Amino acid sequence: MTQRIPIVENILSANDRLAEENRARLDAAGVFAINIMASPGAGKTSLIEQTLPRLASLARVAVVDGDIATSLDADRAAAAGALASIQINTGGECHLDAVMLRGALEQLDLTKFDLLIVENVGNLVCPASFKLGTHKSILVASIPEGDDKPHKYPGMYRGVDALVVNKIDLLPYINFRMEFFTSGVQALNPDLITFPLSCRTGEGMDAWIDWLIQNVKRNS
Ligand code: MG
Ligand code: ZN
Repeated sequence: MTQRIPIVENILSANDRLAEENRARLDAAGVFAINIMASPGAGKTSLIEQTLPRLASLARVAVVDGDIATSLDADRAAAAGALASIQINTGGECHLDAVMLRGALEQLDLTKFDLLIVENVGNLVCPASFKLGTHKSILVASIPEGDDKPHKYPGMYRGVDALVVNKIDLLPYINFRMEFFTSGVQALNPDLITFPLSCRTGEGMDAWIDWLIQNVKRNS
């Protein structure tokens, strides 16, 4: 068992080097890139669907969708107005890595975009360990998942730059203790910028869009 640790470390450092190359490629083209992570069903694709029309006149957006199978999410991104949408089927892998993103970047003329949205595979564990080269990591949590997730998945909450709390329209119907949730987040990632919102009703979307636009402008 002791020999497995260095092997894993080597894989991760090779991934980190490729992530740096991806970052350099994005920076050279002036593209701001985000990596959206969440458990399955939290609303990553819905967030992208609701985000794209709101950015329509403000930023040129490409979407890269990671899934174990199907191109359903990339199809939804295209329908919602992504100028390009690329599906990465991971062939069973439960996360995206820097090699996979590099493959997607090679299919895009990055000079044509301001923002790249990467939707990671739905999984609250390993996506946090694999850097992609994106500028910001976004975690989407949702009310029906329960208020204990920061306590159970600390690695994911610790490593992200922004937190979207989706499905706040369901708060009246679900026993979700916001204080318990927030205390878990605060312990792991103090001052994490948080956007409570509902992709269904649109409540809270404006703050999220403003934050994205500010970052796109800063990076262009
Ligand atoms: Mg999805
Ligand atoms: Zn994985």
